[in-house]
Amino acid sequence: MKQKIHNFNSGPAILSEEVFQEASRAVLNFNNSGLSILEIGHRTPAFIDVLQEARQLVKELMNLNDEYEVLFLHGGASTQFFQIPMNLLDRFETAAYTDTGVFAAKAIKEAKLFGNINVVCSSADKNYNYLPKDFIVPDDAKYLHITSNNTIYGTQWKVFPDANIPIVADMSSDILSREIDYNKFDLIYAGAQKNLGCAGVTIVVVKKNILGKVERDIPTMMDYRMHIKENSLLNTAPVFAIYVAYLNLKWLKNTGGVEQKEILNRKKSELIYAEIDRNKMFTGTTEIEDRSMMNACFVAKDEKTEKSFLEYCKEKNIYGIKGHRLAGGFRASMYNALPLESVEYLVRVMQDFESLS
Ligand SMILES: *Cc1c(COP(=O)(O)O)cnc(C)c1O
Repeated sequence: MKQKIHNFNSGPAILSEEVFQEASRAVLNFNNSGLSILEIGHRTPAFIDVLQEARQLVKELMNLNDEYEVLFLHGGASTQFFQIPMNLLDRFETAAYTDTGVFAAKAIKEAKLFGNINVVCSSADKNYNYLPKDFIVPDDAKYLHITSNNTIYGTQWKVFPDANIPIVADMSSDILSREIDYNKFDLIYAGAQKNLGCAGVTIVVVKKNILGKVERDIPTMMDYRMHIKENSLLNTAPVFAIYVAYLNLKWLKNTGGVEQKEILNRKKSELIYAEIDRNKMFTGTTEIEDRSMMNACFVAKDEKTEKSFLEYCKEKNIYGIKGHRLAGGFRASMYNALPLESVEYLVRVMQDFESLS
């Protein structure tokens, strides 16, 4: 029996016990085939079914219309930082980017290798602790890139910026965590290891009509059109990671879909932020209106107590609560699979820590 650990890690992150159980069964014997999921061919019909069902589940859970394709790729969200401009932006064209965190800044850096980048807003002036509000997205840019949830700093767009151009969104840390109109985006990407599955696969949802418009030659493995054509089987697919994503998507659907997860995620985040605001030991680090439902960032009011709170959490079987090195302090990541009970537990630990001090 596994020890009960409350896992607030930012990614790779918690998945439901059901998904762990089913994934481990498939490692031993996939679909009663007598073979492990780790040793089957990626073109085996049973795996092609998994791929097809996973694709279908993404479309269904996001309510996507038929103009979209769902791809399962390698290389993490970080590869998308350059694969996107490579496919969408010609050398002398301009794309608009929002600079709202380290991952956004990395996306900007990579995109500059392929075209002109117009950074339309930035919150770097305040260590990315808020989301810029008043900025203009130029109509002549090829696309607007945004990061829907800034994992390291704990900010999340509640209302997406207005744009008359295609919108590309890095949803790595809040994909399928809340009900939004996914059809408003032209390309959505996410590394699976936060809210979608385990590390090793990246999901890309793309509207077909934005592709094929650049002049440059694109290496086959980088060309979305080639992946669409080959159903994400251009080369050896990350079979196990796709299988785990499939199990997680199925779990998501069977436990009430995005609608129920949003209700739960809202509850969890309200609980933790109420405690951060009440507790004399801690203070939140982000603008209140921009607070993320996924990653709650906070610091110790007295820096000297930071280490002792981390030790106290460790003693209490709380894992992954240390903030990112660039943000400091603490971060409670509360993805779909994190139960309400874990947040209630963390809140009690924060209260106990306060009364002990
Ligand atoms: C984690 C993260 C990334 C990087 O993902 P990799 O899969 O490690 O490349 C990019 N963007 C956001 C918003 C993230 O949270």
